[in-house]
Amino acid sequence: MRFALVNGERSEAAPKLQGCCLGCSQPMIAKCGTQRVRHWAHRGNRSCDPWWEPETLWHRDWKYQFPSEWQEVVRHDQKGEKHIADVMTENGLVIEFQHSHLPLHEKVAREGFYQSMVWVVDGTRLKGDHPRFLDGRRLFRPTHLNGVFTIADPKGCFPLAWLTCSMPVFFDFGHTGVSTDTSTAKTGVLWCLLPGRVEGCAVVVAVSPVMFMNAAQKRAWIIPVRAVMETVAAALRREREIAEREAWSSIYDRPQYRKRRSRSFRSFRRRSRF
Ligand SMILES: [Zn+2]
Repeated sequence: MRFALVNGERSEAAPKLQGCCLGCSQPMIAKCGTQRVRHWAHRGNRSCDPWWEPETLWHRDWKYQFPSEWQEVVRHDQKGEKHIADVMTENGLVIEFQHSHLPLHEKVAREGFYQSMVWVVDGTRLKGDHPRFLDGRRLFRPTHLNGVFTIADPKGCFPLAWLTCSMPVFFDFGHTGVSTDTSTAKTGVLWCLLPGRVEGCAVVVAVSPVMFMNAAQKRAWIIPVRAVMETVAAALRREREIAEREAWSSIYDRPQYRKRRSRSFRSFRRRSRF
């Protein structure tokens, strides 16, 4: 972990410093070697939070963009369960950065525990992840909303394990950091897979890292999921209805139907004794 309590204050690891865990209050060891960034570890390297995972550089790059008091925030639920969120903004949005594979049951548990959260996933974990995305992206269909796309088969774009989340999943396919400072800001796009489907399609939103950071600082959400899903659903419904109407009218305009239509009208007139 980046922080431990030293004399009651959140402090970063430094040689010979004694600290206590933010989550369980047990003594922590300051790890200040040359191999990894300085951090705190429980004795025996076991964490008190089963959801905690060793941090990669990618993880830290992201986390360090946020104010330090938003990082590693201990959360409790009503049953007394306790976990340490990677980041929790002052508006109560939890941001979990995920590099390694996460079993489905843990994903569901974390979403249920934090409730107001988004995932940021390292999209370069497996060699095939980015090429698959580039390939699948060609099938994105733009909508009338800027940067919002639909895709009929998201399996062709994103890792299977992330397709069923109930929270937005932002895939980071390669920029190595974000910053609102324009001199160091990275260009790049985060691709957000929204939860749920509309008319059988998944909805994907392109967000710049700067937009992501600005939203996290100002609001309790990054993307207004419900509003986007409803708008896209209404547009797709309209599109489908128009296509269906056109298909029907093109069938009924065919000569054989025209003839049959007038025949049936004649017989109708006969039967009705006009
Ligand atoms: Zn602990």
